[in-house]
Amino acid sequence: MALAGTGMFAEILDGEVYRYYADGEWRSSASGKSVTIVNPTTRKTQYRVQACTQEEVNKVMDAAKVAQKAWARTPLWKRAELLHKAAAILKEHKAPIAECLVKEIAKPAKDAVSEVVRSGDLVSYTAEEGVRILGEGKLLVSDSFPGNERNKYCLSSKIPLGVVLAIPPFNYPVNLAVSKIGPALIAGNALVLKPPTQGAVAALHMVHCFHLAGFPKGLISCVTGKGSEIGDFLTMHPGVNCISFTGGDTGIAISKKAGMVPLQMELGGKDACIVLEDADLDLVAGNIVKGGFSYSGQRCTAVKVVLIMESIADAVVQKVNAKLAKLKVGPPEDDSDITPVVTESSANFIEGLVMDAKEKGATFCQEYRREDNLIWPLLLDHVRPDMRIAWEEPFGPVLPVIRINSVEEGIHHCNASNFGLQGCIFTRDINKAILISDAMETGTVQINSAPARGPDHFPFQGLKDSGIGSQGITNSINMMTKVKSTVINLPSPSYTMG
Ligand code: NAP
Repeated sequence: MALAGTGMFAEILDGEVYRYYADGEWRSSASGKSVTIVNPTTRKTQYRVQACTQEEVNKVMDAAKVAQKAWARTPLWKRAELLHKAAAILKEHKAPIAECLVKEIAKPAKDAVSEVVRSGDLVSYTAEEGVRILGEGKLLVSDSFPGNERNKYCLSSKIPLGVVLAIPPFNYPVNLAVSKIGPALIAGNALVLKPPTQGAVAALHMVHCFHLAGFPKGLISCVTGKGSEIGDFLTMHPGVNCISFTGGDTGIAISKKAGMVPLQMELGGKDACIVLEDADLDLVAGNIVKGGFSYSGQRCTAVKVVLIMESIADAVVQKVNAKLAKLKVGPPEDDSDITPVVTESSANFIEGLVMDAKEKGATFCQEYRREDNLIWPLLLDHVRPDMRIAWEEPFGPVLPVIRINSVEEGIHHCNASNFGLQGCIFTRDINKAILISDAMETGTVQINSAPARGPDHFPFQGLKDSGIGSQGITNSINMMTKVKSTVINLPSPSYTMG
């Protein structure tokens, strides 16, 4: 079943290189150069995308600026209608897009389909939410503030920012792109997408669904190229009025370089799972395996360190090991649970963390096994704070367990991290859970479940190095707008029914 780049997607392909999208057209770059996308499973070239030039980026920004003005004059219900249309096309064509996700980022086949469907749902929900929250403004009257009479009426409403630059990461190249595209468009902005290199072809197919829905020329564009080469030019471009970025430490560097524009940053995490003595141990084991090993641990909200009370540690480790033994390891096409990690350098990085833990005396619950980019699931017990894996994000199927003797010890480890994305607590005592949740310096705490980004309308944010601002459909729409006020000044105070 080879559907990507064929049929209605044929026009996005120029020979062997996927085109970029600008001014409502699919184009080949004047650079004559392309960027190679290596299949993580076969380690062979799977796709090529255009290496766009700075001149092409300039043109995209100019077109976006013009298109945005007309779009801001387009009624809200019409913007919503187009988004609903794009969502339907996206869901209808989930198969070729999922195929790209399997080949570019080794996402298990079923999960790849779910990502596309979830993305369509996100776009529809965003359209609905936008119509509600952007359809309302505020009326303020002046006499509530001391010294004023009621002679001023302030009308405030939300206005677009202009051109939004969206940069998603490789692990959800479709979902984390539409979570920026939808809010930007419903709020009346233009959108420039720079997809991750691994995942770029899935993103281009997704953009084609928006193209087919009939959005105006230039309103949406997608420029491809290596982040390290065109990234700075894009993020420091004077035509950009807002940056929404999801990824790793790159986001910290972007925050330092970007000009005076609003930033939405969703960065890395080291989500802690704190397990108390009274927890339901089967529930804990199930969530550690799902939370730590889904998509081979390549999720921002994966469980990345288990902090467990010594008295129950043996029992939980045993239950987790039993479940790990049942995971299917292999290619994404077979719907394996554990698939190759995204690049060879990622696999090398993970191996570095594992070897450091080995030298420092961690207990290996399974034998360490790697074939090319494929790493077998591994639980490391008796990890201590002097090991790198206690603090760093492996982004792979390798999970450290630190045994603790008090809840305070667990909270202390969680808060000593430079990250603060999510965390979770397992206990049957809700009062304790609330106290621990309040003590944890993370953007979200899950009680009795593994961390998760969804459902997509929930607020989602990281503290410290994990982010700036908040995501989630409503928060993203608000973030991509600014408040504008118009004040009506009456010659004399006026009081209704007065
Ligand atoms: P990454 O290396 O930071 O890349 C993210 C995006 O930035 C990619 O599109 C990349 O393009 C681009 N990029 C690279 N250099 C750039 C530059 N100088 N300027 C502008 N853009 C640039 O992250 P990743 O490896 O794709 O994703 C893994 C990381 O994302 C992990 O740390 C994970 O925790 C985090 N993440 C966070 C969340 C969240 O919501 N908090 C969600 C998912 C993932 P290229 O691919 O072309 O280099």
